[in-house]
Amino acid sequence: MQRWGRAKSAAGFVVLSPLSAHAKSVALYNSQTYFQEGSLQFKFWGVRGSIAVPGSDTLGYGGNTTCIEVRGDNGEIVVLDAGTGIFQLGRQLLQESANQIHLFISHTHWDHIQGLPMFKPIFVPGNQIQIYGPVDPLSQLGIQERLAMQMDRHFFPVQQSDLQSQVTFNDLVEGQSVKVGSLTISSFLFNHPIINFGYKIDDGSKSLIFTGDHEWPVNPHAPSDSAFAANQQVIDRRRHETLEFMANSDVLVIDTAYTEEEYTTRHGWGHGTFDSSILAAREANVKKVFLTHHEPTRSDSQLESVFQAAIERNRVTTNEPIILLAKEGLTVGL
Ligand SMILES: [Zn+2]
Ligand SMILES: [Zn+2]
Repeated sequence: MQRWGRAKSAAGFVVLSPLSAHAKSVALYNSQTYFQEGSLQFKFWGVRGSIAVPGSDTLGYGGNTTCIEVRGDNGEIVVLDAGTGIFQLGRQLLQESANQIHLFISHTHWDHIQGLPMFKPIFVPGNQIQIYGPVDPLSQLGIQERLAMQMDRHFFPVQQSDLQSQVTFNDLVEGQSVKVGSLTISSFLFNHPIINFGYKIDDGSKSLIFTGDHEWPVNPHAPSDSAFAANQQVIDRRRHETLEFMANSDVLVIDTAYTEEEYTTRHGWGHGTFDSSILAAREANVKKVFLTHHEPTRSDSQLESVFQAAIERNRVTTNEPIILLAKEGLTVGL
Protein backbone atom coordinates (compact mmCIF):
# COMPACT_ATOMS: atom_id res chain seq x y z
CA MET A 1 0.00 0.00 0.00
CA GLN A 2 1.47 3.28 -1.04
CA ARG A 3 2.06 5.88 1.62
CA TRP A 4 3.58 9.27 1.17
CA GLY A 5 6.65 9.76 3.23
CA ARG A 6 9.96 11.43 3.65
CA ALA A 7 11.81 8.87 1.56
CA LYS A 8 9.47 9.35 -1.36
CA SER A 9 9.37 13.09 -1.42
CA ALA A 10 12.56 14.19 0.24
CA ALA A 11 13.26 16.75 -2.46
CA GLY A 12 9.93 18.41 -1.99
CA PHE A 13 9.91 18.79 1.78
CA VAL A 14 8.66 21.82 3.50
CA VAL A 15 9.17 21.68 7.23
CA LEU A 16 7.23 24.07 9.41
CA SER A 17 9.39 26.72 10.96
CA PRO A 18 8.40 29.14 13.70
CA LEU A 19 7.40 31.92 11.33
CA SER A 20 4.60 34.30 12.14
CA ALA A 21 1.19 33.05 11.04
CA HIS A 22 1.14 35.49 8.17
CA ALA A 23 4.60 34.54 7.01
CA LYS A 24 3.65 30.87 7.14
CA SER A 25 0.67 31.49 4.91
CA VAL A 26 2.67 33.31 2.32
CA ALA A 27 5.74 31.09 2.49
CA LEU A 28 3.84 27.85 2.14
CA TYR A 29 1.03 28.47 -0.25
CA ASN A 30 3.15 27.82 -3.27
CA SER A 31 4.75 24.63 -1.94
CA GLN A 32 4.13 21.33 -3.64
CA THR A 33 4.57 19.16 -0.58
CA TYR A 34 3.59 20.14 2.88
CA PHE A 35 4.46 17.19 5.00
CA GLN A 36 4.74 16.37 8.66
CA GLU A 37 5.06 12.92 10.17
CA GLY A 38 1.63 11.65 11.10
CA SER A 39 -1.07 9.08 10.73
CA LEU A 40 -3.54 10.83 8.45
CA GLN A 41 -2.44 11.85 4.98
CA PHE A 42 -4.22 13.35 2.05
CA LYS A 43 -3.62 14.53 -1.48
CA PHE A 44 -5.49 16.96 -3.70
CA TRP A 45 -6.30 15.53 -7.14
CA GLY A 46 -8.68 18.32 -8.14
CA VAL A 47 -9.20 21.78 -6.66
CA ARG A 48 -11.16 23.63 -9.34
CA GLY A 49 -14.84 24.54 -9.10
CA SER A 50 -17.60 24.28 -11.67
CA ILE A 51 -15.68 23.02 -14.72
CA ALA A 52 -12.29 21.54 -15.51
CA VAL A 53 -9.95 24.15 -16.97
CA PRO A 54 -6.78 22.62 -18.42
CA GLY A 55 -4.34 25.08 -19.92
CA SER A 56 -1.16 27.01 -19.41
CA ASP A 57 -2.89 29.51 -17.08
CA THR A 58 -3.89 26.83 -14.58
CA LEU A 59 -0.86 24.52 -14.59
CA GLY A 60 0.30 25.79 -11.20
CA TYR A 61 -2.80 25.07 -9.12
CA GLY A 62 -4.36 22.57 -11.50
CA GLY A 63 -7.42 22.49 -13.70
CA ASN A 64 -9.23 19.36 -12.49
CA THR A 65 -12.42 19.53 -10.47
CA THR A 66 -12.81 18.35 -6.89
CA CYS A 67 -11.23 15.14 -5.68
CA ILE A 68 -9.24 14.43 -2.52
CA GLU A 69 -7.57 11.16 -1.56
CA VAL A 70 -7.22 10.41 2.16
CA ARG A 71 -5.16 7.60 3.65
CA GLY A 72 -5.47 6.21 7.14
CA ASP A 73 -2.65 4.75 9.16
CA ASN A 74 -3.62 1.20 8.24
CA GLY A 75 -3.78 1.90 4.52
CA GLU A 76 -7.49 2.76 4.46
CA ILE A 77 -8.36 4.59 1.25
CA VAL A 78 -11.05 7.24 1.44
CA VAL A 79 -11.83 9.47 -1.54
CA LEU A 80 -13.77 12.71 -1.23
CA ASP A 81 -15.74 13.57 -4.37
CA ALA A 82 -15.30 12.32 -7.91
CA GLY A 83 -14.63 15.40 -10.02
CA THR A 84 -12.31 15.06 -12.99
CA GLY A 85 -9.32 14.76 -10.64
CA ILE A 86 -10.40 11.21 -9.78
CA PHE A 87 -9.27 10.02 -13.22
CA GLN A 88 -5.56 10.34 -12.39
CA LEU A 89 -6.16 8.99 -8.88
CA GLY A 90 -7.75 5.92 -10.47
CA ARG A 91 -4.65 5.31 -12.56
CA GLN A 92 -2.50 5.44 -9.44
CA LEU A 93 -4.79 3.10 -7.49
CA LEU A 94 -4.69 0.67 -10.40
CA GLN A 95 -0.89 0.65 -10.30
CA GLU A 96 -1.03 -0.10 -6.58
CA SER A 97 -3.66 -2.82 -7.13
CA ALA A 98 -5.72 -1.12 -4.43
CA ASN A 99 -8.97 -3.05 -4.22
CA GLN A 100 -10.88 -1.53 -1.30
CA ILE A 101 -11.96 2.04 -1.87
CA HIS A 102 -14.46 4.20 0.03
CA LEU A 103 -15.79 7.13 -1.98
CA PHE A 104 -17.81 9.85 -0.26
CA ILE A 105 -19.80 12.17 -2.54
CA SER A 106 -20.69 15.62 -1.20
CA HIS A 107 -23.34 16.29 -3.85
CA THR A 108 -24.10 15.45 -7.42
CA HIS A 109 -23.26 18.65 -9.29
CA TRP A 110 -21.11 17.73 -12.27
CA ASP A 111 -17.87 19.10 -10.92
CA HIS A 112 -18.09 16.60 -8.04
CA ILE A 113 -19.07 13.43 -9.92
CA GLN A 114 -18.04 13.77 -13.54
CA GLY A 115 -14.82 11.78 -13.23
CA LEU A 116 -16.51 8.71 -11.75
CA PRO A 117 -17.37 6.95 -15.05
CA MET A 118 -13.65 7.18 -15.94
CA PHE A 119 -12.41 5.97 -12.53
CA LYS A 120 -10.67 2.80 -13.63
CA PRO A 121 -10.94 0.81 -10.35
CA ILE A 122 -14.72 0.49 -10.88
CA PHE A 123 -14.02 -1.67 -13.93
CA VAL A 124 -11.70 -4.14 -12.20
CA PRO A 125 -13.30 -7.46 -11.23
CA GLY A 126 -12.86 -8.21 -7.54
CA ASN A 127 -12.46 -4.58 -6.49
CA GLN A 128 -14.77 -3.51 -3.71
CA ILE A 129 -15.95 0.06 -4.05
CA GLN A 130 -18.19 1.58 -1.41
CA ILE A 131 -19.89 4.80 -2.50
CA TYR A 132 -21.61 7.03 0.06
CA GLY A 133 -23.76 10.13 -0.32
CA PRO A 134 -26.94 11.85 0.80
CA VAL A 135 -30.45 11.10 -0.43
CA ASP A 136 -31.95 14.03 -2.29
CA PRO A 137 -34.87 15.20 -0.13
CA LEU A 138 -36.86 16.65 -3.03
CA SER A 139 -36.71 13.76 -5.50
CA GLN A 140 -36.14 11.09 -2.82
CA LEU A 141 -33.54 9.59 -5.15
CA GLY A 142 -30.62 7.86 -3.47
CA ILE A 143 -26.98 8.29 -4.41
CA GLN A 144 -27.06 5.21 -6.68
CA GLU A 145 -30.01 6.42 -8.76
CA ARG A 146 -28.55 9.90 -9.19
CA LEU A 147 -25.10 8.62 -10.15
CA ALA A 148 -26.69 6.19 -12.63
CA MET A 149 -28.07 9.15 -14.55
CA GLN A 150 -24.67 10.32 -15.75
CA MET A 151 -23.98 6.76 -16.95
CA ASP A 152 -27.15 6.65 -18.99
CA ARG A 153 -26.26 5.35 -22.48
CA HIS A 154 -26.90 8.78 -24.00
CA PHE A 155 -24.04 10.19 -21.97
CA PHE A 156 -21.64 7.29 -21.38
CA PRO A 157 -21.05 3.96 -23.12
CA VAL A 158 -20.95 1.79 -19.97
CA GLN A 159 -23.93 1.62 -17.63
CA GLN A 160 -23.80 1.25 -13.88
CA SER A 161 -25.28 -2.27 -14.08
CA ASP A 162 -22.35 -3.37 -16.28
CA LEU A 163 -19.56 -2.42 -13.89
CA GLN A 164 -17.27 -5.36 -13.16
CA SER A 165 -16.18 -4.36 -9.69
CA GLN A 166 -18.40 -4.84 -6.70
CA VAL A 167 -19.89 -1.41 -6.14
CA THR A 168 -22.05 -0.86 -3.07
CA PHE A 169 -24.06 2.32 -2.68
CA ASN A 170 -24.76 3.70 0.76
CA ASP A 171 -27.34 6.42 1.39
CA LEU A 172 -26.40 8.64 4.30
CA VAL A 173 -28.51 10.77 6.59
CA GLU A 174 -27.13 13.91 8.15
CA GLY A 175 -25.00 13.26 11.19
CA GLN A 176 -24.45 9.61 10.29
CA SER A 177 -20.98 8.24 10.94
CA VAL A 178 -19.23 5.49 9.00
CA LYS A 179 -16.25 3.49 10.23
CA VAL A 180 -13.56 2.67 7.69
CA GLY A 181 -10.88 0.78 9.58
CA SER A 182 -9.31 3.21 12.01
CA LEU A 183 -11.13 6.18 10.45
CA THR A 184 -14.49 7.61 11.40
CA ILE A 185 -16.20 9.64 8.69
CA SER A 186 -19.12 11.78 9.80
CA SER A 187 -21.45 13.84 7.66
CA PHE A 188 -22.86 17.33 8.06
CA LEU A 189 -25.26 19.33 5.91
CA PHE A 190 -23.48 22.34 4.42
CA ASN A 191 -25.54 25.06 2.74
CA HIS A 192 -25.80 24.73 -1.07
CA PRO A 193 -28.65 24.96 -3.62
CA ILE A 194 -28.97 21.15 -3.56
CA ILE A 195 -28.30 18.78 -0.70
CA ASN A 196 -24.59 18.76 0.06
CA PHE A 197 -22.85 16.82 2.80
CA GLY A 198 -19.45 17.80 4.07
CA TYR A 199 -17.39 15.18 5.85
CA LYS A 200 -15.13 14.98 8.85
CA ILE A 201 -12.49 12.26 8.78
CA ASP A 202 -11.11 11.48 12.19
CA ASP A 203 -8.49 8.88 13.03
CA GLY A 204 -8.72 9.35 16.78
CA SER A 205 -5.91 11.89 16.99
CA LYS A 206 -6.18 14.03 13.85
CA SER A 207 -9.12 15.31 11.86
CA LEU A 208 -9.78 16.66 8.39
CA ILE A 209 -12.95 18.46 7.36
CA PHE A 210 -14.14 18.88 3.80
CA THR A 211 -17.15 21.10 3.21
CA GLY A 212 -18.03 20.10 -0.32
CA ASP A 213 -19.66 23.20 -1.77
CA HIS A 214 -20.79 25.71 0.82
CA GLU A 215 -22.14 29.22 1.10
CA TRP A 216 -22.64 30.86 4.47
CA PRO A 217 -26.36 31.65 4.46
CA VAL A 218 -27.35 35.27 3.96
CA ASN A 219 -30.61 36.77 5.19
CA PRO A 220 -32.70 37.53 2.09
CA HIS A 221 -34.80 40.12 3.97
CA ALA A 222 -33.93 43.72 4.75
CA PRO A 223 -33.52 44.48 8.47
CA SER A 224 -36.69 46.58 8.30
CA ASP A 225 -38.68 43.59 6.99
CA SER A 226 -40.82 41.75 9.56
CA ALA A 227 -39.40 38.37 8.41
CA PHE A 228 -35.80 39.47 9.04
CA ALA A 229 -35.51 38.57 12.72
CA ALA A 230 -36.91 35.06 12.46
CA ASN A 231 -34.70 34.34 9.46
CA GLN A 232 -31.66 35.70 11.19
CA GLN A 233 -32.27 33.41 14.15
CA VAL A 234 -32.22 30.36 11.90
CA ILE A 235 -29.12 31.62 10.09
CA ASP A 236 -27.27 32.33 13.34
CA ARG A 237 -28.13 28.92 14.74
CA ARG A 238 -27.01 27.19 11.56
CA ARG A 239 -23.76 29.13 11.52
CA HIS A 240 -23.11 28.16 15.11
CA GLU A 241 -23.77 24.47 14.36
CA THR A 242 -21.53 24.60 11.29
CA LEU A 243 -18.67 26.17 13.23
CA GLU A 244 -19.13 23.55 15.94
CA PHE A 245 -18.75 20.80 13.35
CA MET A 246 -15.52 22.41 12.17
CA ALA A 247 -14.27 23.28 15.65
CA ASN A 248 -10.62 22.56 16.51
CA SER A 249 -10.04 20.41 13.44
CA ASP A 250 -6.48 19.97 12.24
CA VAL A 251 -7.38 20.71 8.64
CA LEU A 252 -10.34 22.42 7.03
CA VAL A 253 -10.76 22.20 3.26
CA ILE A 254 -13.34 24.84 2.46
CA ASP A 255 -15.16 26.12 -0.63
CA THR A 256 -13.66 29.53 -1.39
CA ALA A 257 -14.77 30.26 -4.91
CA TYR A 258 -15.20 34.02 -4.89
CA THR A 259 -13.66 37.32 -3.99
CA GLU A 260 -15.85 39.70 -1.98
CA GLU A 261 -16.48 41.75 -5.10
CA GLU A 262 -17.54 38.75 -7.18
CA TYR A 263 -19.82 37.59 -4.40
CA THR A 264 -21.94 40.73 -4.48
CA THR A 265 -23.62 39.44 -7.65
CA ARG A 266 -23.54 35.75 -6.72
CA HIS A 267 -25.58 35.41 -3.54
CA GLY A 268 -27.34 32.08 -3.46
CA TRP A 269 -24.98 30.39 -5.93
CA GLY A 270 -23.78 28.21 -3.08
CA HIS A 271 -20.13 29.17 -2.64
CA GLY A 272 -17.91 30.84 -0.09
CA THR A 273 -15.50 33.76 -0.31
CA PHE A 274 -11.92 34.30 0.82
CA ASP A 275 -13.03 36.48 3.71
CA SER A 276 -15.86 34.20 4.84
CA SER A 277 -13.55 31.17 4.82
CA ILE A 278 -10.77 32.90 6.73
CA LEU A 279 -13.23 34.23 9.30
CA ALA A 280 -14.84 30.82 9.78
CA ALA A 281 -11.50 29.08 10.17
CA ARG A 282 -10.51 31.55 12.83
CA GLU A 283 -13.83 31.30 14.67
CA ALA A 284 -13.74 27.50 14.55
CA ASN A 285 -10.14 27.51 15.79
CA VAL A 286 -8.92 25.16 13.07
CA LYS A 287 -5.17 24.71 12.66
CA LYS A 288 -4.74 24.69 8.88
CA VAL A 289 -7.07 25.80 6.15
CA PHE A 290 -6.96 24.89 2.49
CA LEU A 291 -9.03 27.19 0.31
CA THR A 292 -10.44 25.28 -2.65
CA HIS A 293 -13.08 25.19 -5.44
CA HIS A 294 -11.04 27.80 -7.27
CA GLU A 295 -13.05 29.93 -9.68
CA PRO A 296 -12.50 28.41 -13.16
CA THR A 297 -11.80 31.73 -14.89
CA ARG A 298 -8.96 32.57 -12.47
CA SER A 299 -5.40 32.05 -13.70
CA ASP A 300 -2.64 30.93 -11.34
CA SER A 301 -1.31 34.46 -10.97
CA GLN A 302 -4.77 35.94 -10.42
CA LEU A 303 -5.49 33.27 -7.80
CA GLU A 304 -2.30 34.10 -5.93
CA SER A 305 -3.00 37.78 -6.13
CA VAL A 306 -6.56 37.62 -4.72
CA PHE A 307 -5.32 35.20 -2.06
CA GLN A 308 -2.52 37.56 -1.01
CA ALA A 309 -4.96 40.46 -0.85
CA ALA A 310 -7.33 38.44 1.35
CA ILE A 311 -4.49 37.45 3.69
CA GLU A 312 -3.39 41.07 4.00
CA ARG A 313 -6.92 42.31 4.54
CA ASN A 314 -7.69 39.71 7.21
CA ARG A 315 -4.37 39.73 8.99
CA VAL A 316 -4.44 39.27 12.75
CA THR A 317 -1.53 38.70 15.05
CA THR A 318 -2.55 35.86 17.33
CA ASN A 319 -4.04 32.40 16.97
CA GLU A 320 -4.19 32.66 13.23
CA PRO A 321 -4.68 29.38 11.37
CA ILE A 322 -2.20 28.54 8.63
CA ILE A 323 -4.03 29.46 5.44
CA LEU A 324 -3.10 27.91 2.10
CA LEU A 325 -4.43 27.55 -1.39
CA ALA A 326 -5.34 23.97 -2.26
CA LYS A 327 -3.25 22.81 -5.16
CA GLU A 328 -3.49 19.79 -7.40
CA GLY A 329 -0.80 17.28 -6.48
CA LEU A 330 -0.25 18.77 -3.03
CA THR A 331 0.24 16.06 -0.42
CA VAL A 332 -0.26 16.71 3.26
CA GLY A 333 0.47 14.63 6.34
CA LEU A 334 -1.05 15.27 9.75
ZN1 LIG B 1 -18.81 22.56 -7.05
ZN1 LIG C 1 -22.27 22.43 -6.25
